[in-house]
Amino acid sequence: MAEPSSADRDAADALRRFRERFAFPDPDLVYLDGNSLGRLPVAAVDRAAAVIGDEWGDRLIRAWNEGWWETPLAIGDAIGPLIGARPGEVAIADSTSVNLFKLAVAAMDHQADRPVVLTDDLNFPSDWYILEAAARRADGNHRVEVLRSPDWIHGPVDAIIDRLNDDVALLSLSLVTYGSGYLYDLERVTAAAHAAGAMVLWDLSHAAGAVPIDLGSVGVDLTVGCTYKYLNGGPGSPAFLSVRTDLQDVLGNPVAGWWGHATPFGFDPAYRPTSGIRHFLTGTAPMVSMALIEPGVTMLAEAGIAALRAKSIAQTTYLIERWRTDLVPLGFTLGTPADPDRRGSHVSLDHPQALAIDLALIADHGVIPDFRPPASIRFGIAPLYNTFADLDRAAEAMIEVVTSGRHLDPVDQPAVT
Ligand SMILES: *Cc1c(COP(=O)(O)O)cnc(C)c1O
Repeated sequence: MAEPSSADRDAADALRRFRERFAFPDPDLVYLDGNSLGRLPVAAVDRAAAVIGDEWGDRLIRAWNEGWWETPLAIGDAIGPLIGARPGEVAIADSTSVNLFKLAVAAMDHQADRPVVLTDDLNFPSDWYILEAAARRADGNHRVEVLRSPDWIHGPVDAIIDRLNDDVALLSLSLVTYGSGYLYDLERVTAAAHAAGAMVLWDLSHAAGAVPIDLGSVGVDLTVGCTYKYLNGGPGSPAFLSVRTDLQDVLGNPVAGWWGHATPFGFDPAYRPTSGIRHFLTGTAPMVSMALIEPGVTMLAEAGIAALRAKSIAQTTYLIERWRTDLVPLGFTLGTPADPDRRGSHVSLDHPQALAIDLALIADHGVIPDFRPPASIRFGIAPLYNTFADLDRAAEAMIEVVTSGRHLDPVDQPAVT
């Protein structure tokens, strides 16, 4: 029997109805970069009008007492079920980078007698910079050790497990790595770290809203993550952080500001932390962009993470099958784990002319993936709105660019791709 076509698969897609709840000003554009900046939910346009016009415009400062003050924790609680956190364990604040700094310093201070912070060479560069900076700032003499992936695709799980001992204060990794899309085994790695007395800090930026996550199953200590990727919160929307309940009043916030004070309106000269997750907040929440996180999170919750994951695996598998039959002969190699259980929701295809191909896909074919140096094209698949037909369009465009020789045209490295 013939394999179902992309049209058959789209017709049978249980999540098909969600696509029309996103803005499509150019219906022909194939957008495969939702792991970098998710599409605009239609409901976010209405929410923006309300938060600007009604709340800021009409209610003015009264709005802080009419819901704004609670919003960082309320949206945190809306994200909680997507990552298996309990109510009161997640808050929205700052950027992912800043939250990583706050929680990494907090963990190092708490484990001051253990000198090592472990990460891997697949992590996002900002995470390396921040862990280095945090190690320089924390009490004690911490240093960062970066463990090497065996092949630049799979995480160095065995090396991590071998390295964990009573030197290690903190293990910090991306649950889904930004380049290859490798998905760590959260339970196994967290349990190994805990057995050695180390804390874990997972960066969920490429995982939240894309793969099932159950922080509670192994008592994950700390997480951070973006809201503008698979959560569709909008450009630069503030990030989330989570702290396991029993650690919240044990760890300090190294950027202690008035939003985490026990009596913020007492204007006390001395800092006294409030209890719970709120003491990891620092300063005034960016209400306009924070408010826009909720519409995307609501849709993900409605779709259900199990259905999203099933479609995501079907779609990454479909694109990898097209690579195997049509793109291998054109010089493309797979930069993503072949095992669906070990990959997130994007597929990286490598090619010596990857940058030229990426630019031609955007300029000539209306297909937007993402180039990552040195030679990788990343196809982010957001199951709420991407179709199987989108994946055919991307594959056909790559075939056309390479068979026409367009990929050999000289290219200038653009400032931003
Ligand atoms: C996208 C991403 C970030 C981005 O951090 P910002 O502070 O929002 O710029 C950080 N870490 C990882 C792993 C990411 O994927």
